Amino acid sequence: MEYATLALDSLALDSLAVHAGRDDLADLGVHALPLDLSSTSPLPDLEHGGASYEAMATGGHPTAEGGNVYARLWNPTVARFESALATLERTAESVAFSSGMAAMTASILAVKAELGGNHVVAVRPLYGGTDHLLASGLLGVEVTYCAPDEVAASVREDTCLVVLETPANPTLELVHIRAVVTAADGRPVLVDNTFATPVLQNPALDGAALVLHSATKYLGGHGDTVGGVVACNPEWAAALRRVRAVTGALMHPLGAYLLHRGLSTLPLRVRAQQESAHKTAAWLSTHPAVVRVFYPQIPECDPLGLVGRQMRGPGAMLALQLTGGYDHAARVTSNVRLFTHAVSLGGVDSLIQHPAALTHRPVAPDARPSADIVRLSIGLEDVDDLQRDLDQALARS
Ligand code: PLP
Repeated sequence: MEYATLALDSLALDSLAVHAGRDDLADLGVHALPLDLSSTSPLPDLEHGGASYEAMATGGHPTAEGGNVYARLWNPTVARFESALATLERTAESVAFSSGMAAMTASILAVKAELGGNHVVAVRPLYGGTDHLLASGLLGVEVTYCAPDEVAASVREDTCLVVLETPANPTLELVHIRAVVTAADGRPVLVDNTFATPVLQNPALDGAALVLHSATKYLGGHGDTVGGVVACNPEWAAALRRVRAVTGALMHPLGAYLLHRGLSTLPLRVRAQQESAHKTAAWLSTHPAVVRVFYPQIPECDPLGLVGRQMRGPGAMLALQLTGGYDHAARVTSNVRLFTHAVSLGGVDSLIQHPAALTHRPVAPDARPSADIVRLSIGLEDVDDLQRDLDQALARS
């Protein structure tokens, strides 16, 4: 039986979020996403199995005649999620990994292998784990940390990658992606798009070669999956799959299934969470216990006017500088009741955490967020309930 196919290119983001990566389902005779847990696949014969193995080990897709061979090389559930995420990020492909840090590690190994250099320019601030990975020397790269306007002066002959986050974790600095791409002068730029999600920003359209997500956050949205993904062109995707095939940092099919299902509600979740974050940031800006609110919609947090231009909205993450230093911040994190005191972000439930003591603890002291800052991830609870909870926590602290 032949089924009519859907032309995705004519669809808006909300429709793509529901339908992308599902084009083979009708032929399989199913409506919901199938979950394929096989670690290995029966081989039709040696010649075709071997040819498919060769295609995948060198970064390609399985052949129709040879099949998937082995789950470290290909898994259909993961491939469907990859296809959906690439559609939302407006790239040709994406490659999924077992965590955001595995995705970052594979990206660095892939650019080193392809371009030969071992120098990375890293625009701070970055998520503490990324900052730490780069500084650790584990991947054999030398790193120059810099501000966005210092990228041109920091790139060298042997620079193989420029890394940035926008909005940046934890204080929501915005980086002008096109300006950094120009300053990188032909070197690949990796943009960590975890905070913005493809709902609010598509860095590939601004020239980023690699768009990375900690899929653990908004993409899944329910705090029950750890994963990472890099959206990019077919050449970088092949290079990433070559690294993944030999290093083995695979996304588990159950994770891919949950993430793909999570994408269906991503636009709705992000917009609703953003609306509450916007109201909460405005309310906190006048709170006597708060010195400063970091939120991209606040004009002093967006000096280049990137919200509305580069980003379609300010997002649902914010940070607060409190009047009473570390002790004050520690008390507030202990006194919340509706917010959960926990690291991570982007889920349906609101979280609060202290970056200097937790997510950014491994960062060099001179680049670590100050100890009077807490970071909030705004979820889907009623915004008045969230504000009442923060108000009582601030009052008791
Ligand atoms: N990038 C950002 C912006 C993050 O916040 C995180 C984790 O918090 C990561 C990358 C790392 O992702 P994962 O924890 O999935 O390895």
